[in-house]
Amino acid sequence: MPGPAESDYRGGMASSPVSIDDLRRRLVAAQQGMQAQGWGCLLVSPGPDLRYLTGYEALPLERLTCLVLRDGGLPFLVVPELEIAAAEASPVGSLGLDLLPWAETEDPYAKTADMIGPLTSAAVDNHMWAEKALPFASALGDVPLQLAGPVLSSLRIRKSADEVTALREAGAAIDAVHERMGEWLRAGRTEREVAADIDRAIIDAGHVRTDFVIVGSGPNGASPHHEVSDRVIEEGDPVVVDIGGTTAAGYCSDETRMYSIGQPPAEFLEYYAVLQEAQWTAVAAVRPGIPCQDIDAIARDIIAGAGYGDLFIHRTGHGIGLETHEEPYIVAGNDRQLEAGFAFSIEPGIYRSGAHGARIEDIVVCGEDGPLLMNDRPRDLQVL
Ligand code: ZN
Ligand code: ZN
Repeated sequence: MPGPAESDYRGGMASSPVSIDDLRRRLVAAQQGMQAQGWGCLLVSPGPDLRYLTGYEALPLERLTCLVLRDGGLPFLVVPELEIAAAEASPVGSLGLDLLPWAETEDPYAKTADMIGPLTSAAVDNHMWAEKALPFASALGDVPLQLAGPVLSSLRIRKSADEVTALREAGAAIDAVHERMGEWLRAGRTEREVAADIDRAIIDAGHVRTDFVIVGSGPNGASPHHEVSDRVIEEGDPVVVDIGGTTAAGYCSDETRMYSIGQPPAEFLEYYAVLQEAQWTAVAAVRPGIPCQDIDAIARDIIAGAGYGDLFIHRTGHGIGLETHEEPYIVAGNDRQLEAGFAFSIEPGIYRSGAHGARIEDIVVCGEDGPLLMNDRPRDLQVL
């Protein structure tokens, strides 16, 4: 394969949760971003943005929990009375964030609006449920709500050294699952049976949650988002295995490797060689300053040059961090230049409808001098 040796791209392992100082810096940066947009407040409900800013992994439930950043005041956390202990046990306690508790019979939206005071604009995190965003808009005096996504993703898109370590640990955990694939994947079993074994192994390998398990055997491999079915895996099947989970640190893994049960069809091997070259060439091209769309084009041009362009039917990759899919997207039209610390997948695929398909996926961090690989399982077809 072209490019430097795979081992050149891997660094050491260490474990490191986010420090309170880092959380403080993130809160300040979010507040500055809010002010630069001219928003009067920024409301963040439970989810990846709240976890990024406060370390609090609150469950998204019907009762309102919400971080409030505001112009001209300290941030505070709106929290149901019965969840005060949980909030204080999280990094929210060490951060010393002010709490605005509300009792079961109170209206938390009105109480929050009173605390904030009059404003002319407000922003909400992109994942805030409509059942919270609409009452907020109304309680705040029908101000127009903006999506805070651009401000928050501009912070989350650059991973710190600690976050890269967390992604590397997630990558090593999912590598460990792929390494065991031969224990489960064989002719005569259904995709669903194999997926159940993989699901357990994802937890055993150090994730706290399985996010998805795709086992696409034979013709099912030609559907990029096929998950599993009751199809019985047959001798000669190529099998797409695309799996991911979330670790205790909150960071996601996502890795696709290709397997075959015995000898696959000759046509499959022809395009698999093309795919492998496309994927690895795109990985090797990662460096600061190259636009996202150029990474996509590098993979796509190799596949198209070999005559398979019509069979590569999705973007080349997506950012990853506290969510499996986040910015930056590696896609035509995205001229954003890569910067050190951007983390994303490179996962071209070739899909021969009705017959079989292939995808190879690695998580890559853009380093100062080139790509840092979070996965290191062999990219050659694994014949079981
Ligand atoms: Zn994947
Ligand atoms: Zn992916």
